[in-house]
Amino acid sequence: MNRHPIDPTDPTDPAPLDPADWEEFRALGKRIVDDMADFLAGLRDRPVWQPVPGPVRAALGTGLPHTGIPMDEVYEEFRATVLPFPRGNIHPRFWGWANGSGVPVAAYGDLLASLINCTLGSGENAAMMVEQQVISWLQEALHWPADGSGLLTSGASMGQITALAAARRAKGPAADIRREGILAGGAQLTVYGSTETHHSLEKAVELLGIGSRFFRQIPVDHGRRIDVRALRAAIRADRDAGLHPLCVVGNAGTVNTGAVDPLDDLLAVAREENLWFHVDGAFGAFAQLLPSHRALLFGLTEADSLVFDLHKWLYMPFDVSCVLTRQAGALEAAFASHADYISKTAGGPASYALSFADRGIEQSRRFRALKVWFALKTHGIDAFARAIEGNIAQAAHLAELVEADDHLELVSRSDLNVVCFRYVWPGAGPEDLDRVNRAVLSRLQTEGLAMPSHTVLDGKFVIRVADNNHRSTLADFDFLVREVLSAGAALRAGEPG
Ligand SMILES: *Cc1c(COP(=O)(O)O)cnc(C)c1O
Repeated sequence: MNRHPIDPTDPTDPAPLDPADWEEFRALGKRIVDDMADFLAGLRDRPVWQPVPGPVRAALGTGLPHTGIPMDEVYEEFRATVLPFPRGNIHPRFWGWANGSGVPVAAYGDLLASLINCTLGSGENAAMMVEQQVISWLQEALHWPADGSGLLTSGASMGQITALAAARRAKGPAADIRREGILAGGAQLTVYGSTETHHSLEKAVELLGIGSRFFRQIPVDHGRRIDVRALRAAIRADRDAGLHPLCVVGNAGTVNTGAVDPLDDLLAVAREENLWFHVDGAFGAFAQLLPSHRALLFGLTEADSLVFDLHKWLYMPFDVSCVLTRQAGALEAAFASHADYISKTAGGPASYALSFADRGIEQSRRFRALKVWFALKTHGIDAFARAIEGNIAQAAHLAELVEADDHLELVSRSDLNVVCFRYVWPGAGPEDLDRVNRAVLSRLQTEGLAMPSHTVLDGKFVIRVADNNHRSTLADFDFLVREVLSAGAALRAGEPG
């Protein structure tokens, strides 16, 4: 149904895809903002998560619409099918995986970005300047050298491959791999990181043609930090075997337990060995905002490249991440390309010196900087630092509650925001413990009470809490502990899980 007064038989009649009635567009927008303000204000009273019922699943599996319906009917469908069944990460008691909670005002930035619909590959326009400004704010916030360079990306996974491509260009073989291909270098490249390194690094190494076997997984110590001696030995062995060590990866917050590698030691190894030093600070880099945590991250600002997700511990809506390089031009060396149809002009819209498309893989890029700009201007970086400090205090509080209870075992805690624990009781065997803890977690999640995730540490199934949530309070963790204890007692006694 199309109420635009066009002649449907005339294909040259313009703009059937703009609203036929701007009043209708305006009214729906107001309603959406109204409804969403209520929804966000009432989050705490909703389940964290609930299963998608059959009819909804069916509605979300219907075929391609050939003709349209009014936009407010589409919105009603959204309200009935999508809105009630989200992932859950905006709820105050979501602490699973490594998700962020989403600062509401940032969503206005996203909405505006879509409405003005700029693409940020290149060009002389204000949107390009906003991304540049946001990158320089992030450099300043993390004490990164101001003469370094950067790019906003979708996620840290995209950042890792971008950074490793720069590493390959800077520290790889003399032969131009971009032109000649990976075999032209002669020697096999190798990359080093701990066994706890995120799998996105392995993907990056695979995609760059290095091969995942040559991502050398170095063992960790009892705190799950990389064993620097073992790292040195591995580099030496590879050199002796005629391989070409390229890059050392340091973790500023591993996804499993929030462990921070000794970054300054890794930096020293990288400098001695003339390797690129890359830091994966996907969530942990933001602890750099706290003076109390700078010693822990010492060495981070000396790295050759750093990735961090703003959609994790800066609470931005998905997706936005950042890759920084210490040297200006390092990304361009790996990615700049030339084509007549994107070459710059002396003045006008194609004249801007900077081209983000020359710093990474993507040419068309969305205006993801605007939500960050909106949120940082609205709240100021200090408010984010306070929220991060709060999450660290909440994680410490949870660890204390766990330690204080005989029925709970603290399996790991970090100086950041990750705590892993499990329900225990006297005389329980390892299989009983795994079975009951799986059931406890499943009950918390499926009943929508709270959403930790899980991992396996030293062969133990554990409940894992990663607190990147600006809505959580200490009382939410008191609630979590109470629920784990009562579910544990019930399920261990043989109640069906
Ligand atoms: C989340 C995470 C990644 C991957 O980041 P994406 O934004 O999901 O691509 C990499 N490393 C660590 C430590 C992470 O927590």
